[in-house]
Amino acid sequence: MNLILLGAPGAGKGTQAEVICNHLNIPAISTGNILREAVKNGTQLGLEAKSFMDSGALVPDEIVIGILKDRIGEDDCQNGFILDGFPRTVPQAKALDEMGVQIDKVIDIEVADEKIMQRLSGRRVCADCGASYHIEYKPSKSEGVCDKCGGETVLRKDDHPDTIKDRLHVYHEQTEPLKDYYQQTGKLVVVQGQEDVADTSALTLKAVEA
Ligand code: ADP
Ligand code: ZN
Repeated sequence: MNLILLGAPGAGKGTQAEVICNHLNIPAISTGNILREAVKNGTQLGLEAKSFMDSGALVPDEIVIGILKDRIGEDDCQNGFILDGFPRTVPQAKALDEMGVQIDKVIDIEVADEKIMQRLSGRRVCADCGASYHIEYKPSKSEGVCDKCGGETVLRKDDHPDTIKDRLHVYHEQTEPLKDYYQQTGKLVVVQGQEDVADTSALTLKAVEA
C-alpha cells in the first residue's frame, strides 16, 4: 500500500506515519528528516537545503523530488511506503504521478492554525535521533534529554514563533491545493486531528482500513 500523509506543519503527520508504519509494516519516509540529516552531516544536499529550511521556506522541488525518487527506489519500499511531508507542492505531486507511483490513499490530517502555533512552539526534538516531544503534552522523562537515545532535545530553528507563521503561510499557499488535487482522483480521506493523539491514531487507522 502506498500512502501519503497530508497536513500543515505540526498537524502530527510524523506521529501518524509511525502509527501506520507499525500497523502495516511498511516504511515511513519523511523528506524533512532526510533533509535535516543531510544538514547535520554537512553534505552538499544539506548545504543547499539549510537556508530554505531555517527560514521556513520549501526546499526547491527538483531537489526534494530527486531525494524522494532515490528513497522509494530502495528495497524496503517494494511492498509500499508512507510519505510524510511529500508531496508539498502540485509539481511534486505531478512528479510522483510521472514516476508511475500508484497512490492508494491520501490521508489529510486537519488541525487549526492556532492549535499548530501552540504545538510547534512547545515541540522539542532530539538533536541526535529526531524523536519528537512536547513540553506540555509529551515531555521526555528527563527534561532536555531524549528517552530513546539520551541525546539533547532542542527547539528546532524553524519552530520559533515567527518562522511557524511563515511555514503556515507556505502551507496554505503551496501545499493545501493538494487537497483538491487528490480529491479529484477520489483518494483523499480527511481525518480531524484530536486533542488526544491516541484518538487521532484510531481515526487514522480506520481511514487506512476503509
Ligand atoms: P513540518 O511538517 O514540521 O513542517 P518537515 O520536517 O516535514 O516539517 O519539514 C521541514 C522542512 O524541510 C520544511 O519546512 C521544508 O523546508 C523542508 N521540506 C521537507 N519536505 C519538503 C518537501 N516535500 N518539499 C520542499 N521542502 C520540504
Ligand atoms: Zn534521541
